[in-house]
Amino acid sequence: MKNLTELLENYTLEGEELKIFEFPAPVLKKKAEPVTEFNEELQKLCKDMLYTMYNAPGIGLAAPQVGKSIRLFVMDIDFDREEITNADGEVEYRLTNFNPQIFINPVLKNLEGEILYEEGCLSVPGVYEEVKRAQTITVDYQDINGESHSIDCDELLSICIQHENDHLEGIVFLERLSMLKRNLLTKKFLKNKKKR
Ligand SMILES: [Zn+2]
Repeated sequence: MKNLTELLENYTLEGEELKIFEFPAPVLKKKAEPVTEFNEELQKLCKDMLYTMYNAPGIGLAAPQVGKSIRLFVMDIDFDREEITNADGEVEYRLTNFNPQIFINPVLKNLEGEILYEEGCLSVPGVYEEVKRAQTITVDYQDINGESHSIDCDELLSICIQHENDHLEGIVFLERLSMLKRNLLTKKFLKNKKKR
């Protein structure tokens, strides 16, 4: 995990904020391509994606959500966000306890059990609904230098990885719901979106 620690130490919340594509943008419906080059450009993208995710704020962000159809997502299920009022009386957010994780070319296996959890998505703002996922999974993935790893996950980490991995398959969490709920929430989201 040396590379992640390096990234964390270099991480100053000084990345570039990327545009988050919202449902039903075509890039969210595409199956993403494998990452083949582990270069500086990839490092910058990961850092900018983390910056964008923390600022949103969200706990996970997949490359297709920022318009890049490649098999990569970033995640942090541990950070804390504290609301503070600055000297000018404006509300600011202080983020602490970062634990950024980067998954490149992930492959999910050993999906077992069942868990229901209320999910949301930065590409479908304002919509929260319970989704059924596997309780435990194993994920094989590459880190930012292309080295291979494998971890067993449960609870929120497992749920979040399944949600983000769906984005690489062109699936938004609305599509994991019953047809009735899916139609209802999609209609509501698109109607609200028009108003914004
Ligand atoms: Zn999402």
